[in-house]
Amino acid sequence: MIKANDPTRKSWVEVPADSDFPIQNLPFGVFRTQSNPTPRLCTAIGNNIVDLAVMNFMDLLDDVELDNEIYSNRYLNDLIALGKPKVRQLRDRLADLLDEKNDEAKDMAWHFLHPMDKVEMLMPLQVGDYTDFYSSLEHATNVGSMFRPDNPLLPNWKHLPVGYHGRASSIVVSGTPVVRPQGQTLPQGATQPVFGPTKLLDFELEMAFVVGKPNAMGTFVSVENAEDHIFGLMLFNDWSARDIQSWEYVPLGPFLAKNFASTVSPWVVTLDALEPFRVAGPVQDPQVLPYLQFQGAKNFDLKLEVEIASKTGANATVCHSNFKYMYWNMAQQLAHHTVNGCNMNIGDLCGSGTISGPTPDSFGSMLELTWRGSKPLKLSDGTERKFINDGDTVVMRGWGERNGIRIGFGEATGKVLPSANK
Ligand code: CA
Repeated sequence: MIKANDPTRKSWVEVPADSDFPIQNLPFGVFRTQSNPTPRLCTAIGNNIVDLAVMNFMDLLDDVELDNEIYSNRYLNDLIALGKPKVRQLRDRLADLLDEKNDEAKDMAWHFLHPMDKVEMLMPLQVGDYTDFYSSLEHATNVGSMFRPDNPLLPNWKHLPVGYHGRASSIVVSGTPVVRPQGQTLPQGATQPVFGPTKLLDFELEMAFVVGKPNAMGTFVSVENAEDHIFGLMLFNDWSARDIQSWEYVPLGPFLAKNFASTVSPWVVTLDALEPFRVAGPVQDPQVLPYLQFQGAKNFDLKLEVEIASKTGANATVCHSNFKYMYWNMAQQLAHHTVNGCNMNIGDLCGSGTISGPTPDSFGSMLELTWRGSKPLKLSDGTERKFINDGDTVVMRGWGERNGIRIGFGEATGKVLPSANK
């Protein structure tokens, strides 16, 4: 077992019962404070962040033997590049330092602990490339049946994890506002397109995995080795403009309907910390080709939810889903992505695709929840939502829970601002 994951551990830092960040999580992020605006690496415990640069400066991390600069980097990439054994060593050491049985760091805590609400969390990764999959059978069937009632799943869907190359430049950290995109749409019944702000702005509830080990161009990552190349996971909101999408997507797929913004959680939770939540995924029928066949449990039981909060304070939790519903798992996605010799780099992100479950309240987008706007949802003040309004904030949360230990991702939030030229 990974030492840091020991479920009997408790921290001398208070961890509220509903916290995403017990001592068994120890995710990684990048932050700064008003008094010290230099970005640096951190982890989380309870309602606090732990400044790793300061911990290191105080010689508390000497045993891990990392270059000092790693802790004051702008991004996590160089830490991730050291490889899983080294990062495991760091997580284990952090767990020891924060363990209630050890008081070597406790008296100095005021140097390195900051209340989470007093710091600014920054985009933690330098993302070179971003790919988005389409791997939930329920989502693909829902969307397919709206647009092609007689033929919802295309013939390739159960043979390969369908995906497309997205845009890394517009991936932003939780809390960054999102401007309503403008673009071309074809109004219903019209023969000519019009230009204007999207009327059908949507979220897509996803998880994204972070590539933690590169493969050289011309080589591939096998499905058995794939998890060794996956550093960790983040919450991911693939913001989508449905009216722009439906006009532009044939024949080459999503373009401007998707690349205006994607929101990630500030925390990368390591795959190590998620080990307790492994479960078997759905049975894959028909059998997949040998390069996609795998052994063992490769799905993860992580509860997911989406809340919409209006600018007047009305809100509603509109979706309860779970990462375990994915038809294609991450190992298969990475094996497929590289099978042609495509090289992946550290910090690359792969979105899961919208994670919809079997019940109508588990659908991971407004498109599905309101069935293209035909069944509006109600917020707490009685106002209706078919899609996302200006001034609304979309909040995604995710966590696993086993034996009273909850390992979570914090939040991925984004507030929608009116179109720039409106
Ligand atoms: Ca998506």
